[in-house]
Amino acid sequence: MSIFNKSVSIFIDKVPPGAIAPFAKRYIAGPELTDAIELTKKLNSQGAMTTIDVLGEFVNTKEETIYYRNLAIKVLEAIDKNKLDANLSLKLTQMGLKLSKALCLDNIEKIFEKAKELGIFVRIDMEDSTCTDDTLEIYRNYRDKYNIGTVLQAYMRRTIDDINKLSDGRLNFRLCKGIYDEPREIAYKDKEIIRSNYIWCLEELLIKKAYVGIATHDEYLVFHAERLLKKYGYKRDEYEFQMLLGVDEQLRSIIINRGHRLRVYVPFGKDWLPYSIRRLKENPNIMKSAIEGYIKKYQR
Ligand SMILES: Cc1cc2nc3c(=O)[nH]c(=O)nc-3n(C[C@H](O)[C@H](O)[C@H](O)COP(=O)(O)OP(=O)(O)OC[C@H]3O[C@@H](n4cnc5c(N)ncnc54)[C@H](O)[C@@H]3O)c2cc1C
Repeated sequence: MSIFNKSVSIFIDKVPPGAIAPFAKRYIAGPELTDAIELTKKLNSQGAMTTIDVLGEFVNTKEETIYYRNLAIKVLEAIDKNKLDANLSLKLTQMGLKLSKALCLDNIEKIFEKAKELGIFVRIDMEDSTCTDDTLEIYRNYRDKYNIGTVLQAYMRRTIDDINKLSDGRLNFRLCKGIYDEPREIAYKDKEIIRSNYIWCLEELLIKKAYVGIATHDEYLVFHAERLLKKYGYKRDEYEFQMLLGVDEQLRSIIINRGHRLRVYVPFGKDWLPYSIRRLKENPNIMKSAIEGYIKKYQR
């Protein structure tokens, strides 16, 4: 990572929201549910499916969790009403996991019930390592009753064991590298090891006939995924690729044109800041090229 990129990653937390907003726009549908719906219509017409995420992670009260639970239910109703090729992504902390597990379970059960009634799939996002045990346990406890899946992170040393522990039932996972800053004791730090572990975990999942959402923008991993899907005779509707909104649209088209199904992660909402900071830390080059653009403009 260049010195500029490192500096952006370190100082971005201190930048005022107003200054981040112009760079953040590309990653977010907009503040309202209608923004996510309109964008999904557009992406559906381009051959991509979506998963809609309500932004907002740091809830402090029961009332806030209920607000987000009701909004998630509105997302499901809007997907159904507009006949969209879309599903819902859900964060357990937003449902109150850190406030009270009972509250969280009550909230997600209401969402799962609505999703079941409407025939819509729900994916539980994976957050930082303080949530991993609870997330996998909740997935295990609800996977037979509802059409749900969760997420595995290839940077976690435990992931290959988690796959084996969970393989006594239905397996539906999004596999990603992982975005949180975890300690070396529990997470790989080396990019090449994370890649190798991604391929190892993906192969293990395919051997176990899991449905996998192959979530990456790393073309090296896309290459290996195609190789493994062929090796294990996977048919088109037995897996999907997944990408984040605003990231490498050219790769998105390449994957779709090669005949794969692809889902775009579409976040919306007023609480866009933490999500955007994570995305910008992942790619400080976006801020770099914008700053270079400003400099050029003022040099003219
Ligand atoms: C659909 C989806 C859902 C996800 N859900 C979760 C989750 O539940 N939990 C979790 O921990 N993580 C999640 N992630 C994030 C994931 O863990 C990675 O942090 C992220 O995908 C970057 O890893 P990568 O495989 O794309 O590889 P990288 O090596 O990080 O990226 C490959 C290339 O993609 C481009 N790129 C990557 N990120 C950006 C960006 N932000 N802006 C512009 N270009 C970029 C760059 O060109 C980069 O060289 C999700 C990712 C996706 C695609």
